[in-house]
Amino acid sequence: MAYENLDFFFKKSGSINEEICLEPFSISGYSLFLKREDQIHPVVSGNKFRKLKYLVHDMKASPKKAILTFGGAFSNHIAATAAIGKLMDIPTVGLIRGEELEQLRTSNPTLQYAYQCGMRLIYMNRSDYRLKGQEEVLKKYIPNLDEYYIIPEGGTSSLAVKGCSEILSEADTNFDYIATAVGTGGTFAGILNSLQPHQQGLGFSVLNGTFQKEILGKFSNNTHYHLTDTFNFGGYAKIDSELVRFINKFKEITRIQLDPVYTAKMMYGIMNLMQEGYFRKNSRILAIHTGGLQGIKGMNLRLKSKNLPQIEI
Ligand SMILES: *Cc1c(COP(=O)(O)O)cnc(C)c1O
Repeated sequence: MAYENLDFFFKKSGSINEEICLEPFSISGYSLFLKREDQIHPVVSGNKFRKLKYLVHDMKASPKKAILTFGGAFSNHIAATAAIGKLMDIPTVGLIRGEELEQLRTSNPTLQYAYQCGMRLIYMNRSDYRLKGQEEVLKKYIPNLDEYYIIPEGGTSSLAVKGCSEILSEADTNFDYIATAVGTGGTFAGILNSLQPHQQGLGFSVLNGTFQKEILGKFSNNTHYHLTDTFNFGGYAKIDSELVRFINKFKEITRIQLDPVYTAKMMYGIMNLMQEGYFRKNSRILAIHTGGLQGIKGMNLRLKSKNLPQIEI
């Protein structure tokens, strides 16, 4: 299926806000809603589609023939770029970190999905991957580099931020806090750009530190936000049995699946902040479900190999 353009996904006046009943979590005094951006596409992460929307329009308007991008073994961005390529008949190439993955492709759900979407996968050794910003290094892998529209890892750029500023709609102005998980910061910057003066942004860094403030300052003038890495569970893609238990309990109660790398850490953080009394009494909080569900299978393989409890799908 090839759609004329990506607006197909976004015209539906934004994704729905689903109320999370807080009683079973022994929390009261607030209302919490989850914006179901994860429902934009059955496999692909909501915010990665948002980030790609204008980049893909820009690519289509350029003389470039194909998209070239980068990512690790479980990358939501790789999965999203591959899916968009398939939907829009754009050839895609993914430069993947780690040459050992070449042998493991069929047992890696993310890479297998990207491959099935028609993405050409090229594996880079880790030291070259670190230097991928240098043209000479890239040319070793892609001799005809000029023919490609290059999207950086994570996809953050002003066009990506513009796409993310469309996550919130007019109907969301009656919330007091807007929360999201923060990786590079592109998604949060887009959200900050669309906030009303009475709304506060709340970002949960899934990396160590809150250095994304620099990116936020680059792409947004709005400083009415709080960014914390307190609920990062030790860093990017780090996870323990407590987080797995939380994901499974949340699903049992709400029937909503969270992903272990981003949205679960945000939701765990929100509920902890509620219990600590961080939010104003009776306030309305909107959390963004940015998707990322395609990464669960890969995470479960890692949990299984460590004999840890797995995420129920
Ligand atoms: C990438 C991603 C994020 C973070 O987006 P950034 O723009 O890099 O901050 C949040 N949630 C999910 C599910 C993601 O895949």
